[in-house]
Amino acid sequence: MEFSLNPEQQELVEKARAFTKEWISPNAVKYDRSGEFPLDICREAFKQGFMNPHVPAEYGGTPHRVLDHCLILEEMCTGCSGIATAIDANGLSQYPVILAGTDDQKRRFLAPMTEDLMFSAYAVTEPEAGSDVSRVKTTAEKVGSDYVLNGIKWWITSGSVASWYFVLARVDDKPTGFIVPADSPGIVRGPKEINIGQHASNTVRVTLEDVKVEAKNRLGEEGDGFQIAMKTFDHTRPGVASGANGITKAALNIALSYAKRRRTFDKKLISNQGISFKLAEIMTRLDAARYITYKAAWLFDQGLDNGREAAEAKWFAADVAMQAAIECAQVLGGYGYTNEMPAEKLIRDAKIYQIYEGASEIQKMIIVGKLMRMKEVY
Ligand SMILES: Cc1cc2nc3c(=O)[nH]c(=O)nc-3n(C[C@H](O)[C@H](O)[C@H](O)COP(=O)(O)OP(=O)(O)OC[C@H]3O[C@@H](n4cnc5c(N)ncnc54)[C@H](O)[C@@H]3O)c2cc1C
Repeated sequence: MEFSLNPEQQELVEKARAFTKEWISPNAVKYDRSGEFPLDICREAFKQGFMNPHVPAEYGGTPHRVLDHCLILEEMCTGCSGIATAIDANGLSQYPVILAGTDDQKRRFLAPMTEDLMFSAYAVTEPEAGSDVSRVKTTAEKVGSDYVLNGIKWWITSGSVASWYFVLARVDDKPTGFIVPADSPGIVRGPKEINIGQHASNTVRVTLEDVKVEAKNRLGEEGDGFQIAMKTFDHTRPGVASGANGITKAALNIALSYAKRRRTFDKKLISNQGISFKLAEIMTRLDAARYITYKAAWLFDQGLDNGREAAEAKWFAADVAMQAAIECAQVLGGYGYTNEMPAEKLIRDAKIYQIYEGASEIQKMIIVGKLMRMKEVY
């Protein structure tokens, strides 16, 4: 067992920390208030090699291991998890292509993203199919050798800026994955959703009205789509958990710094056990969340099954972040409830980690599913 970072990882963390300090933290409030998409920051992230970190080298990428990616994301999300999501969301739609795409598909859809700043989006959720992905209703009707897609996808991250979508649609009754260029006639993008947090991230509805998709853009075989969509999460959930860990770190740093300087009853806040124990508990939970996250990432990098650990990391880190943000507001007293201090933003931003990429209840269902197949826990 090795708990220390190697020199390359240490360098990556320092590079991500410097980028966060220069580009993300100073702009967090601006983009949170405006809700604009942080294109300038994405452009810089692209230049510095922080975007598309999973694209294989033969398609122009400089891929990071999942564990290294987690270290980077934790840093960026400490600055602003909304901006970090805008930078990082490509990975969720790229992974189905990495996993199941042909060489031709990878050349047409992944390689250009390493040459220019581009976005893509994972379009699976529908009005009646969120947690229960198998209920997707979008249809892909076979016409000759091509397909015609009809349906509604909603809450699609980066949906307005994407150049292409990974879409899950039914061919007859078989959920099937497609790569759909965003400029295809019949794609209608809705207005940006007004979410409670992560305002810099772009979430929209995408409607498909008689969208013609060539057979060469089908991912895998008909009926492979559900597996592709789900397998993607083994890869991405450790990163999502790292984002939550970044929020916890931010909340702890804010609470710690305030508790060290604020005086009440002639002593510093931190001298009160009632306050200092909150900080000790957040630190402990952050360490625990990080270790499960790193283990889930490490298992993936070793080519081992990480389904249970990725689910554990996702729900646990999300709960830790939510609780840390609320405790941070408590330590700040009145300031915790105003938008002059970042605690309220952390609360709003943390909440989404308990919902997207599989809500916490769904992660627990995955863990129980694994437990059911075990005779004993070692
Ligand atoms: C900001 C944002 C960004 C998103 N980005 C994307 C994206 O890029 N691409 C995409 O495809 N989707 C995206 N989503 C959709 C997201 O993944 C879903 O909202 C999420 O999976 C939950 O689905 P749902 O909203 O339909 O809730 P439902 O499935 O209706 O669930 C409602 C609640 O019930 C719980 N629940 C459901 N079934 C059970 C059960 N059997 N037992 C116990 N509890 C249960 C859920 O955990 C949840 O708390 C995004 C959502 C948001 C809000």
